[in-house]
Amino acid sequence: MKAHDGMYIDGAWRPAAGTDTIEVVNPADEQVIDRVPAGTAEDVDAAVRAARAALPGWAATAPAERGTVIGALRDALAARREEIAETVTAELGSPLPFSRKVHADLPVAVAGSYAELAATYAFEEKVGNSTVHLEPIGVVGAITPWNYPLHQIVAKVAPALAAGCTVVLKPAEDTPLVAQLFAEAVDEAGVPAGVFNLVTGLGTVAGQALAAHDGVDLVSFTGSTAVGRSIGATAGVALKKVALELGGKSANVILPSADLAKAVNVGVANVMSNSGQTCSAWTRMLVHTSQYEQAVELAAEAAAKYGERIGPLVNAKQRQRVRSYIEKGVAEGARLVVGGPESPREQGYFVSPTVFADVTPGMTIAQEEIFGPVLSILRYEDEADALRIANGTVYGLAGAVWAGEEAEAVAFARRMDTGQVDINGGRFNPQAPFGGYKQSGVGRELGAHGLAEYLQTKSLQF
Ligand code: NAD
Repeated sequence: MKAHDGMYIDGAWRPAAGTDTIEVVNPADEQVIDRVPAGTAEDVDAAVRAARAALPGWAATAPAERGTVIGALRDALAARREEIAETVTAELGSPLPFSRKVHADLPVAVAGSYAELAATYAFEEKVGNSTVHLEPIGVVGAITPWNYPLHQIVAKVAPALAAGCTVVLKPAEDTPLVAQLFAEAVDEAGVPAGVFNLVTGLGTVAGQALAAHDGVDLVSFTGSTAVGRSIGATAGVALKKVALELGGKSANVILPSADLAKAVNVGVANVMSNSGQTCSAWTRMLVHTSQYEQAVELAAEAAAKYGERIGPLVNAKQRQRVRSYIEKGVAEGARLVVGGPESPREQGYFVSPTVFADVTPGMTIAQEEIFGPVLSILRYEDEADALRIANGTVYGLAGAVWAGEEAEAVAFARRMDTGQVDINGGRFNPQAPFGGYKQSGVGRELGAHGLAEYLQTKSLQF
C-alpha cells in the first residue's frame, strides 16, 4: 500500500497546505493503518483552480478521445484489482472475496461503460430548425461516502470526464486510501493535468469548502440525507446544480404466489452483504400474513449462516448507531429472532446479523435507515396493504418484488414510489439509471442517464 502525504492537484502529488492528518483505521482490528492529509479550504481552492484551468481544453477534446482516456483508466483500475481489493478490505473491512468481486470489479465495469458511451453518445441533436448541443456543465465537486468507496468515485468521475467536465474529488475520511489509488490510476491513464484532482479531508472542512466554492458548477454528493440537505441548501443559494444520492429504506415485497424460500434467501443476502452498509438494501421484507411465520423461520436460518462471514461496520460510530437502532427495535416491541445489540467479537466494529419479526410500519426500525446488517420483517393483509407499507417511508431508492408470474410482479413494481425495482431477483445492471424518488435524492447515476447529469444544452437556430 502506497501512502501519500499530499494531494493530487494539477497532475502531480503536492504537499497539503496544512499539517493536520486523518488516521485511517482497519475496522476489523481497530489498528491505525495509515494517515492522509486533512485538506483545508486552501487545498480545495488550489484544486478548483486547476480544474477550471483544465476545463476549456478537456471540454474541447473530441468525445471519442475522451472515451479512449477513460478506457485507459479502466485498464489501469483492472491492473490494480488485487491492490484495490486489499485496500478496501483494510479500510472498510469487507471480506476479501467481496472486495474483489464488487469493490474492485464493479468500478472497472462502470468505467468501461463510460469509455464506450463517450464515443457513442449523441452530444448533438436536431430539433426542427435548431441544433441542440449537449455541453459539459463545467467543474464538478464530487463528495463520496465510504460504503462502496471506489464504485461511488467512478460513478461520478467517469461520466463527468465522458461529458467533458473536470473534477475535484473529496472522498470519505474513512476510506481515503482507495481514492489515492484511483488518483494513481488516473495519472497512469494519461488524463491531462487538472482534469481530475483529489483533496482528502474532513467533510465539515474540505467537503464544505468544495460544496460552497464559487468555481464549482455542479456538486455531486452521495451520503447521508442530513448532509445532502445542507449541500442542497448551499447550492440553492448559489444557484448551483446538484446531484444527490441519499439514503434508502427499500421494501422487498414477497407476493403469495412467489417462491418463498428463494425470495427470503436472496432478500437476507441482499441485506447482509457489505455488512448492511448499502443504501439500496431491501431492509424491510413484506410477507403475506398466511406465510409470515414460515418466512421468519427461513430468514432466521439464512441470517444465522452469515455469522462468521460478515465483515465489521466501518467505524465505532456506525457500530454504536446500529446497536442503538437494534435496542430501539426491542424497546418498541419488535420480536428479535436472530442477532442483537451485543458485540459478537472482542475486537473490531462487528455487529451480528440481526432479524426482527413483528415489525409494524410505524416503528423506528421500519422508517429510518439503519445502515447495518438488520432486517425487519413486516406482515401485510392484502396487496393494497403491501403497497401502502412499501410506499410508506420518506425514501424511494430501490426495492424488490417476487411473484409466480413476472407480469404480476411488474404490475406491483409500477405502483411503487421508488427508482429501481428488481423483479424476481433481477441482477444489478451497472448501466441502468440509479437514483431516488422522494427524499432518496435528486438526479440519476450510471449509464446514459448518469452522463446526462453532467451536460447542459445549448440550442442554435437556423
Ligand atoms: P456523511 O453524509 O456524513 O458523509 C458522506 C460524505 O460527505 C463524506 O465524504 C463526508 O466527508 C462528506 N461530508 C460530511 N459532512 C459534510 C458537509 N457538511 N459538507 C460537505 N461534505 C460533507 O455520511 P456518514 O456520516 O459517513 O454516514 C452517516 C449515515 O449516512 C449512514 O449511517 C447512512 O445512513 C448514510 N449513508 C448513506 C450512504 C449512501 O450511499 N446513500 C452512504 C454513506 C452513508
